[in-house]
Amino acid sequence: MIQAKGYAAQDAENDLNPWNFERRNIGAHDVLIDIKYCGVCHTDLHMIKNEWFPGIFPMVPGHEIVGVVAAVGSHVSKFKIGDLAGVGVMVDSCRHCEECNNGQEQFCSEGGIQTYNNLGKDGLPVYGGYSNNNVVHEHYVYHISNKLDLAATAPLLCAGITTYSPLRKWGVKKGHKLAVVGLGGLGHMGVKFGVAFGAEVTVLSTSESKREDALKLGAHHFVVTKNADEVATVVKSFDFILDTVAADHDINLYLPMLKTNGTYINVGMPLEPLQVPAFALASGNKTVTGSGVGGTPETQEMLDFCAEHNIVSDIELIDIKDIHSSYNRMLKGDVRYRFVIDMATL
Ligand code: NAP
Ligand code: ZN
Repeated sequence: MIQAKGYAAQDAENDLNPWNFERRNIGAHDVLIDIKYCGVCHTDLHMIKNEWFPGIFPMVPGHEIVGVVAAVGSHVSKFKIGDLAGVGVMVDSCRHCEECNNGQEQFCSEGGIQTYNNLGKDGLPVYGGYSNNNVVHEHYVYHISNKLDLAATAPLLCAGITTYSPLRKWGVKKGHKLAVVGLGGLGHMGVKFGVAFGAEVTVLSTSESKREDALKLGAHHFVVTKNADEVATVVKSFDFILDTVAADHDINLYLPMLKTNGTYINVGMPLEPLQVPAFALASGNKTVTGSGVGGTPETQEMLDFCAEHNIVSDIELIDIKDIHSSYNRMLKGDVRYRFVIDMATL
């Protein structure tokens, strides 16, 4: 077995603490990654607190992983020792169902394996990126360009692909007006991709304090949704709204902001179901849809797009010991705009 150390939650009630554990040996198609940085996704918080379902503990969170290849199995063809490598939200799937064959392994019919809080094919728990290493099948490992700042690349592996994928699917481009709800980890990447695709981008935020940052990130407009006067100025304005909010919220504040035939794309994962009145859909032929991360081909495409267009996340690099104060800031919406753990501090 491979010896590993990381930060783990031993249960849903207590803080994360240092923990030593083992990972599987390097199989023929596996890559051993020496983890350098791991982004902190709001999903980590949902998971360690059992907010969606009872978790598998001890739990080592983290699914925005970047590092350097330290060893490869005998049949690995994609990577060699010393390559930069990234891992996102999934580490395995069946690789033969319709979804896997279509490059949407995140929806694997036989049950894809998430990077943490899941059991691997050997029946043992898999552990995430708040740790010094990982052993992952090469199919779920991505090439990372050395043109980009490595720490700031980590959030692309989840926040990046989760926002890139639906904007691509719905063909957001020049001439479209896109609104992004929530300027956090996902939201700020949604802004960057929307701008890169040529759309006119508005941030819909609860935080007046983020106005200047939003414009620096490339957004064209900023609306504080607590301010009814400002909200009134964007009624029937947008072709697309990308909702990235982690907390329960009423989407009926935002649906009237869609133009006729507009599309509301939800990627946030609050606990309570979204309430969508039939009238709000019928009036204006509106579409409400969702999106779940992205498969392996599209994730590599997104990383290559970012390398070509010099897109990375705006990050605050943190010491792993500060993970709880970072979670607390995240809960208050005070993320600018992704915490990334420097694994040298482990
Ligand atoms: P985050 O960094 O905490 O950002 C969420 C943002 O939502 C906050 O910064 C805040 O921005 C806004 N917000 C917070 N409370 C709000 C409220 N009550 N009403 C309206 N806006 C509020 O979180 P994240 O890491 O981006 O993740 C966002 C959500 O996406 C999480 O639920 C996560 O689990 C989910 N997720 C989904 C997928 C997927 O595949 N669909 C993938 C990854 C993550 P303002 O200050 O600007 O209002
Ligand atoms: Zn995530």
